[in-house]
Amino acid sequence: MPANNYRVRVAEASDMAATVKVMRRPEPGETSYIRATLKGMALTFKHLVNPDKVTRQYPEEQPDLSPRWRGTHRMEVHADGRPKCVACGLCPTVCPANCIRLVGGEDDQGNRYPIVYEIDEFRCIFCGMCQEVCPVEAIHVGVHFENAEYTRERFVYDLDRLMEQDHPSTLLWDPSDPRSE
Ligand code: SF4
Ligand code: SF4
Repeated sequence: MPANNYRVRVAEASDMAATVKVMRRPEPGETSYIRATLKGMALTFKHLVNPDKVTRQYPEEQPDLSPRWRGTHRMEVHADGRPKCVACGLCPTVCPANCIRLVGGEDDQGNRYPIVYEIDEFRCIFCGMCQEVCPVEAIHVGVHFENAEYTRERFVYDLDRLMEQDHPSTLLWDPSDPRSE
């Protein structure tokens, strides 16, 4: 086999017999870094002189986020300042990234509440399932993205910080209005 070819093992689904497929590497004359660089620069120049180009002056100009944008979480609160969470345990159970930590407690009247409620926004994949399963509409993903931090620890939002968030909550997907129009 020529040096510029390499082998790929392919398992055939039908009988799982292994076959060998030979892939051909491009010859030196068929590829060129200079040509690729020039192509990239030509594309850049094309956009440079494009009169319809859009340059947004962020952060002075804020983007129009979709109402279904899933970003930083927020915890809803009662009028007296208590978190709405009843520590049912559904959101940490359903969370695919395992980034919610909940320690539940119970008061004298038997009402459950979160003693510890934390979300690691760094591990979160913003699937929105915590919001979807919450039986009391306490935890929400939010229409917010400006949550850069200097340390990983700062990405772990505790209950107080989640309750302080005041950005809009994300609109859940409505099958009767799939485009939120
Ligand atoms: S949005 Fe998804 S990944 Fe993030 S905390 Fe909620 S359930 Fe977990
Ligand atoms: S699903 Fe809602 S009520 Fe249950 S633990 Fe999560 S935030 Fe609290």
